[in-house]
Amino acid sequence: MSAGLRLPEGFRYSCIGCGRSCTDFDAVAIDAGTAERLRRLPLFHPRLPAGDGGLPYTRDLTLRRVPAEGGGARCVYLDLDRRCALHVVHGPEAKPVTCRTFPFRFFDTPAGTFVGLSFACTAVLEERGELLEARRPELEYLARLAPRERIGGEVRVAPGRTIAWHEYEVLEADLLMHLDDATPLGRWQRHRLFRKDLLRADSVTDAQRSLAADAARAESLAPARGWLEAIREVERRGLLHELPG
Ligand code: SF4
Repeated sequence: MSAGLRLPEGFRYSCIGCGRSCTDFDAVAIDAGTAERLRRLPLFHPRLPAGDGGLPYTRDLTLRRVPAEGGGARCVYLDLDRRCALHVVHGPEAKPVTCRTFPFRFFDTPAGTFVGLSFACTAVLEERGELLEARRPELEYLARLAPRERIGGEVRVAPGRTIAWHEYEVLEADLLMHLDDATPLGRWQRHRLFRKDLLRADSVTDAQRSLAADAARAESLAPARGWLEAIREVERRGLLHELPG
């Protein structure tokens, strides 16, 4: 499923060539076909240590990493100008799929294919480049190449706790609403959804009901006691309810 990709709104990305993704991460895994293709590419690897057969990948099929100038390690293909030599010499199609599709991730869900972004990428983190909507044709293409993560009818939200997809959509809408709310009440509700209400209730609807009731109690106490005390009081009462007999 790739038509009608669901893109996160307001996010930007255009590679700024910082090379971080080629230095900070673990080695990139490749498949046997890619290894064979790389082996045949005419590319000089001044960074390869002697005795490794001149191959740019290891026996367990990961791109070889070599010592970086400032310490740490970097991909063997990262050149001295912090550019990918594969990309520069042979074009983007020459790169392994993992490198071509970074920083994007693709999730197939019952509501369509969602695109995620890695915040390990400098451009994503610093909101540099084009809005993702402007890259839609490219993303549609990458979605066909990239490994897809599948989320079926059940979503795991915590160890030992799964909820149905339609419940997850309700929960996500709730969380997004509370994320926008920077008040003490909003922060507390966001925290409680996962810390207590969702994990203990039978359904997301029960969790919302419990949260709404406690939020109303806190709101009524807050004018006289202040938010911190009001929230503490509601939490104390909840604790008393949970104690046996
Ligand atoms: S971290 Fe992001 S911006 Fe930097 S080189 Fe990698 S993809 Fe490009």
